[in-house]
Amino acid sequence: MLCIQRATLLTPDEQIDDGVLLIDRGRIVAIGDAAHIGVPADAEIIDAGGLIVAPGFIDLQLNGAFGEDFTWAPESIWRVAEGLPRWGVTGFLPTIITSPLQKVAQAQETLEAGPPSGWRGSIPLGLHCEGPFLNPQKKGAHNPAYLRAPALEDVAAWTPDQHVRLVTLAPELEGALELVQTLAQRGVVVSAGHSMANYEQARAAFAAGVRYGTHLFNAMPPLEHREPGLPGALLHATEVTVGVIPDGIHVHPAIVALAWAAKGPSRLSVVTDAMAALGMPPGRYQIADHEVFVTEDARGVNVARLASGTLAGSVLSMDEALRRLILYTGCTLGQALATITSTPADLLGIGRERGRLRAGAWADLVFLTPTIEVVRTMIAGVTCYVREES
Ligand code: ZN
Repeated sequence: MLCIQRATLLTPDEQIDDGVLLIDRGRIVAIGDAAHIGVPADAEIIDAGGLIVAPGFIDLQLNGAFGEDFTWAPESIWRVAEGLPRWGVTGFLPTIITSPLQKVAQAQETLEAGPPSGWRGSIPLGLHCEGPFLNPQKKGAHNPAYLRAPALEDVAAWTPDQHVRLVTLAPELEGALELVQTLAQRGVVVSAGHSMANYEQARAAFAAGVRYGTHLFNAMPPLEHREPGLPGALLHATEVTVGVIPDGIHVHPAIVALAWAAKGPSRLSVVTDAMAALGMPPGRYQIADHEVFVTEDARGVNVARLASGTLAGSVLSMDEALRRLILYTGCTLGQALATITSTPADLLGIGRERGRLRAGAWADLVFLTPTIEVVRTMIAGVTCYVREES
């Protein structure tokens, strides 16, 4: 039995001061305040010293890090995952962008094979297949040579059991709604993105089972007051969650705040969409088979672009995303945490297992300072990262 005490727990639905967590065999078995939770005499104690303890972060869109790109080299998933706890990430969806379908199959095989022995890291919760059924007019950094028309036979093996958890597609493409229905029935979360869908097409997609919008405002038509389009439909639909990249580059901070006002913590999911340059200096990197140039902008923020200038993912870490969401919206830490813990977990249908501090859930935890810096990350009750004292 492991006991974490003197913690400010953010579950994130509520705050528990002088909180205590009891952990057994990787799972939380009791949670409460010190006055109500008895600590077994033989428990191993971790004194949180008043730090905030929150559920570990879940990133629904991550292309790679540490110089590795998941689409180019799907076998790098486990190695990259070992480094993610430094940013508080305990679960993520390795994202495979538009590429030959064989790349998705390779990523599925990598996850099926499991981690190397002795491995410890952030848990890949399944793949996010971003493409190849996208609208060429909103291809972004995706290689148009590999875009495909929706076809059921292409996704025959795309199931949660075979490690596909989220699929981004353009719902206005011919045959796309049939794909949406099929994938949604299997329990795959289907998302609208890289799309030219108008409002009516977006509503039809939601009716067919689309429950997510990939990086709201990016790679979709603009929001216009007489033509709300896909972004207007995503903002308006109460049953749909939206992904937002709050790096200050993909979306203006004021628009992040507007999206926040429309959707709130249970329907806004902060993602990084980070690529190979995360955790690396500026330079040349790769996303799928495209070369990406990462430079530092005037504010000292790293930006990833193709030679054409098109944004190619971000170089945003999850803890920085959390700080920026609070800066842009003025929301509380608990609300901001929900967008990277309980909200993505609920979207994936694993909200009882992950994304919340509750009895029965995995003990995936992040210890944070009051200024929201990651001090310690635990996965299934095992410490995977501790910040070195400076
Ligand atoms: Zn994208």
